[in-house]
Amino acid sequence: MITVKPDPTGIEAAARALRSGELVVMPTETVYGLACAATRIEAVERVFAAKGRPPENPLIVHGSDWTLLREAVAILDPDTESTAGVLAVRFWPGPLTLVLPKSAWVPDIVTAGMPTVAVRVPGHEAARALIDAAGVLVAAPSANRFMGLSPTRIEDIDPRIAAAATILIDAGPCEVGIESTVLDLTAATPRLLRPGGVSQSDLELALGRPIEVPDPHDHGARVAPGQYLRHYAPRTPLILVDDIGDRPGLTFGDARYGQLAMPQDPVAYAARLYAALAELDRAGYEVISVERPPHEPAWAAVWDRLRKAAYDTGRLSP
Ligand code: AMP
Ligand code: MG
Repeated sequence: MITVKPDPTGIEAAARALRSGELVVMPTETVYGLACAATRIEAVERVFAAKGRPPENPLIVHGSDWTLLREAVAILDPDTESTAGVLAVRFWPGPLTLVLPKSAWVPDIVTAGMPTVAVRVPGHEAARALIDAAGVLVAAPSANRFMGLSPTRIEDIDPRIAAAATILIDAGPCEVGIESTVLDLTAATPRLLRPGGVSQSDLELALGRPIEVPDPHDHGARVAPGQYLRHYAPRTPLILVDDIGDRPGLTFGDARYGQLAMPQDPVAYAARLYAALAELDRAGYEVISVERPPHEPAWAAVWDRLRKAAYDTGRLSP
């Protein structure tokens, strides 16, 4: 395993690794991904194994543009075609993943046996350069162990993930900091499967109609494969609190010892969240307390991650 920069030499070495069926830690604007060539079944198997990811949790297929990604997608009906086209023009490259009917080209292991595939054009230039240089579509989940924190910096990557990769591309901290928004276009009304880097209101504005958003408090509803009640969690138990006092954790106020001051703005907060939790996790506290953010739509993606990170410690429910 070696770490390279996202310069032409580093990208070319990583592209060769992907073409040879090896794994690469790939920077994206959301979080770091553990990438492999999407049609190399043994490589995809190694991604699942390195993450400890259950086989029913499908991967996202990444391409450097929508035209190239089409290879992974079945022929679409005219409505879906035009919806996907509008979203692709407006949000790609960027933190939006679309779920569409899959083509025969995508191996079943990638989609967990489902007839649909999740596709995205990443906003990070290094990711697109890598995919282009490799000349393959890339399957890449977040480079975390199953249920753990996603890494937004190379130094936060679990050693078991790093060991599984031939090359790690270090492009510094990820700009968005939380995973992509996942939108299902296979139903009559587009359905939000995971809030993320693109907000509900941005999507509705672009589409000119409302989308369907499952109630985040409805723990009974499993909206999509790979959506677990506990997820994105540090190893240290995490609880949500109104006022942190002098306990270790994340605060909106002045940080005391063992606390990290978080931005008041939801976009800046998201960009900082996983790195901050990784830092507190390493400090070895008994519990991490996190001050509840405002209950406002702009905080939906952050709320989703915090609710899941706190899930089984849920003495104080959000
Ligand atoms: P990540 O680990 O961030 O790459 O997460 C990928 C997530 O995208 C999965 O856990 C699913 O929730 C979602 N996803 C991927 N493929 C599909 C699909 N075919 N249908 C619905 N959701 C999907
Ligand atoms: Mg993930």
